[in-house]
Amino acid sequence: MRITMAQLASGIIEYAERLTSGSPFRLPYPANLQLALDRLTLLSWHQRVAPPPSVVDLLQLAHTPFEEWPLDLEDAELDPDESLLTSGRPSIACEELGRLRGDVEAELRETELMHAVLDKSRAHDAPESYVAFRRLLISRPSITSIEIDAMLAEPHLALLAGEVRRAYADAPPEAIADGIVRTCGGCLGLRLPLDDDRTWTCVDDSCPDPSAEGPDHRAAEGVLWLRRELRTFIAGPGRAELRIAQALTELGVETALWPDFDTYDLAAFSERPWVVDVKAWRNPIRLARRLRDRPFVPPAEAERAFIVIAREQIRAQRRYLDRLRKACPPLRSGQRLVAVSEDQFLDAVRRRTETER
Ligand SMILES: [Zn+2]
Repeated sequence: MRITMAQLASGIIEYAERLTSGSPFRLPYPANLQLALDRLTLLSWHQRVAPPPSVVDLLQLAHTPFEEWPLDLEDAELDPDESLLTSGRPSIACEELGRLRGDVEAELRETELMHAVLDKSRAHDAPESYVAFRRLLISRPSITSIEIDAMLAEPHLALLAGEVRRAYADAPPEAIADGIVRTCGGCLGLRLPLDDDRTWTCVDDSCPDPSAEGPDHRAAEGVLWLRRELRTFIAGPGRAELRIAQALTELGVETALWPDFDTYDLAAFSERPWVVDVKAWRNPIRLARRLRDRPFVPPAEAERAFIVIAREQIRAQRRYLDRLRKACPPLRSGQRLVAVSEDQFLDAVRRRTETER
């Protein structure tokens, strides 16, 4: 079931990408969609329910919350209120499921670009360039051509000019109306029209303030948008990373973001360091699987290690930490590596600074 859902998610992402690429959609449908339909048909027969008759019906089903599916989706690591598509776009659940498959185009592109950036920064012994690259992606999911040229004049970023340009693509045609591109005040990404063509909304699930309006740009300025996979897996969790780093600095704690060329997300305290991996997955069960497949191995010198769950996720999901710990036993308390919320982590840091004062 899990593999089928991951395949379906990959197929939907591919389909949605072809739809927004500007050129008219042509058959055939992505192979993953067809394969997922075949598997779901077999499962339906097995469970004695009617299978979706065609790919078109399957795409319709993808808009439906899982609890309303005629099929029993048990063991697929899904929440009943999630769906794969929302307003015609892949949901965050869909992105996470697709990513767990491990062979999704998007993940390949993301890792490929991030590796290129790492390799180059390492070769030039320029950790500042790596950090500047990541900060730019997180703080500016949309940007105009003029702004990007100005950014690239900065020496740390100049080293990675080619990679910065590859991280962005032109704003899609649907983001432009009357020659204007609208941005979101919460995350500074683009806002897109809902089906009614009058309501403009931020499509980033982890946006801290999706109803806030950001500045408008003239389309003629050449507006660029961070590529989808980088928005989901770099900019989304990155906002929490920057926020935690900021809070630590305000506490007077020595902090490093993505130290040692991104061995982990954050290090606090120079003596007996505490190391942190920040996670912003929507679904704790899927995150648990990810952590079982690719465990976070803290460096030997770390005194403590934390998986920190961003505030947005804790707020959106009841019992997030309980569910995560239950599904991933190495994270239970008493171990060297623990899972905590952003606020719990900051409290622990505060207590340590008070005892050391
Ligand atoms: Zn936003």
